[in-house]
Amino acid sequence: MKCHGCGVEIQTKNPDDLGFLPEHIFEKFIGREDEALCQRCFKLKHYGELIPIPINKNFYNQLKSIIHEFKTVLWVIDIIDFEGTFDKDILELVKNKELFLIINKVDLLPKSVSFSELKNWVYNRVKNELDIKKDNIRLISAKKNFGINRMVKILKEKRIEKAIVIGTTNVGKSSLLNNITNVKITTSSFPGTTLGIVKRKILDSDIELYDTPGIETKKRFTDFFDIYTQVEMIPKKTISRKTFKPDVGKVIFVSSLFRFKILSLAKDSLKPIFLIFAPEKIAFHQTKEERVNDLLKNHIGDILFPPYEKEYPLNIEYEKEIISIDEGDELAMPGLGWISVRRGPLNIEVVKPKNIELVIRKPLI
Ligand code: GDP
Repeated sequence: MKCHGCGVEIQTKNPDDLGFLPEHIFEKFIGREDEALCQRCFKLKHYGELIPIPINKNFYNQLKSIIHEFKTVLWVIDIIDFEGTFDKDILELVKNKELFLIINKVDLLPKSVSFSELKNWVYNRVKNELDIKKDNIRLISAKKNFGINRMVKILKEKRIEKAIVIGTTNVGKSSLLNNITNVKITTSSFPGTTLGIVKRKILDSDIELYDTPGIETKKRFTDFFDIYTQVEMIPKKTISRKTFKPDVGKVIFVSSLFRFKILSLAKDSLKPIFLIFAPEKIAFHQTKEERVNDLLKNHIGDILFPPYEKEYPLNIEYEKEIISIDEGDELAMPGLGWISVRRGPLNIEVVKPKNIELVIRKPLI
């Protein structure tokens, strides 16, 4: 089998050599060999020349040394994964800048969400961590071309001359830039750094936007999957939601990587009611505790997904945590979605990958 991007023979053994494709993905292309793309070409197709970069010390130092050349930063955030994309380490880099928070993918929220309430929600969510004016929070949809003209108008009114554009992977940074800028002008490398940066100009203006590689924070549930799976997990439709009124002892899975068990209720209290919100290709599944082991052994890939393949290699260290969420609050699972408690409190024991932090927050919806 050959990669239809670079023509190299596909191999499944060495991720660092040319033509690499993970084995579980290789199997998907049997029978449709001419569609196979090696990992490198797949990344190029999705990210262009700005291949994502993990947020390690080296990257951090490089970005730090570049960012002082910019007064203004456009930070693109995905509203569907606010907690996973409003990253604390990135926040440290942009704290003293003139910052625009570009909240993308608002088209994926239910129609009932009002934009003025949404903007207030974002403002209240960030105001203790950032000194930002409400006007610098822009709600947009790069896909549906919503809010973008207004955003550009504000950049012009504020006489912004140049800005650096940053964001974690898959927030829609390139969709936005492809919409508002001409094709790239130069790929500039800043002295002392190896970071790929692409300079663009906003159409009909002299405003320069410097595009940077997508950042992999390694703090999202998505980070346990290969890029093929990550791309499949990106929502295409209005976020799915499902209501649960489970009994004590019931276990609910969200994908195969996260589950929680309903703990005992206070005497005389009513059963909790909650909603789970997640992209359409993330499974929710309610079961009895006795079934958990069978599901984990035999049903990853069909009932519990992602991953989308049965033989997917998962090598994760899990941990348990007990959490109580008050009525009206939400528990966000970075990269997966969130749980909104409508009648509570909800007392649960969660099982999640180590190092993934859950966040309790005021309700988005
Ligand atoms: P980047 O990695 O930040 O450059 O993100 P991309 O621009 O490649 O977008 C990642 C995915 O999100 C793609 O599948 C896009 O089609 C999708 N996407 C980007 N912006 C929007 C948006 O406003 N709404 C929706 N529904 N999808 C979007």
